[in-house]
Amino acid sequence: MALVSGPGRAGGATSDQELHTQKHITYITKLDTVRASFQSYFEAFIDYELEYWLTEHLRLNGVYWGLTALHLLGAPEALPRQSTIDFVLSCQKENGGFGAAPGHDAHMLYTVSAVQILVTVDALDELEAKGKGAQNGKGGIQKVGSFIASLQNEEGCFMGDEWGETDTRFLYGALNALSLLRLMDLVDVPKAVSYVQSCENLDGAYGVTPGAESHAGQVFTCIGALSIAGRLDLINKDRLGAWLSERQVDKGGFNGRPEKLPDSCYAWWVGSSLAMIDRLHWIDGQKLAGFVLQCQDPNAGGFADRPGNMVDVYHTHFGLAGLSLLKFEGLEEIDPV
Ligand SMILES: [Zn+2]
Repeated sequence: MALVSGPGRAGGATSDQELHTQKHITYITKLDTVRASFQSYFEAFIDYELEYWLTEHLRLNGVYWGLTALHLLGAPEALPRQSTIDFVLSCQKENGGFGAAPGHDAHMLYTVSAVQILVTVDALDELEAKGKGAQNGKGGIQKVGSFIASLQNEEGCFMGDEWGETDTRFLYGALNALSLLRLMDLVDVPKAVSYVQSCENLDGAYGVTPGAESHAGQVFTCIGALSIAGRLDLINKDRLGAWLSERQVDKGGFNGRPEKLPDSCYAWWVGSSLAMIDRLHWIDGQKLAGFVLQCQDPNAGGFADRPGNMVDVYHTHFGLAGLSLLKFEGLEEIDPV
């Protein structure tokens, strides 16, 4: 995934075992991808025009990652709530879906981010009253659910948008958002479950489509979907747990596939997958936390994918989420699904 990173750089091979909470809060609230999302901050942004265009496609996701990270850090008020809600609603299209920013086409990924943000700041009532399709202050939630449901295909998987690309990421996102909206009955859940099962490989893990190579990110989306559907019983937990545990390398971090370098975001993708199948105790949590902490910039805040690289909001969110999963002191607890 292309991400605009920086300005800071992760600490390198220090023996840093401290979480720099206040630095991370400052990093996120100053972040362009988050800050740019609020009309009131537009003027501060003129100097960053190039970066603005580079980051624009990630904006609604960026807001979600930043907001969730702030909640984990115990600073949910650090972003202005009403501006957040107004920005999210301004990204909605007539068909009920959301784009990355105002004027962009609707897509599953941004629609899921929008729902997650609105739930996080407890604003579904504003969506119900002011969202597209709402009449007499009602109906906005249903409209979003209908958009998501319209993207399920005959095989049970979901498309990202009307152009038809399918991916288990979209399937997981659809079930996640619909369960938050309490509208799971709008889609064929058993068919979605069979599609996920068809992506299971002999090693116990999952790929992006039937027969595709196993990947930890796809494992998360597939078992997250099964968890939401209440069908974790379909998983061979020991076989999958073994594959996931093998993702931990000597340095303590997780990789996404065999032979790859460790990356802080897999602390979340692999860690939450292990938590969902009750196998998180199969890995060395202390070594994992040590690796993730080495990915933080101790001076300017933020996390990178690995020590020595540039920090970004995506790895800041998933690094913190991974530490939270390990019940790291000073962080709010997170739901693995
Ligand atoms: Zn990563």
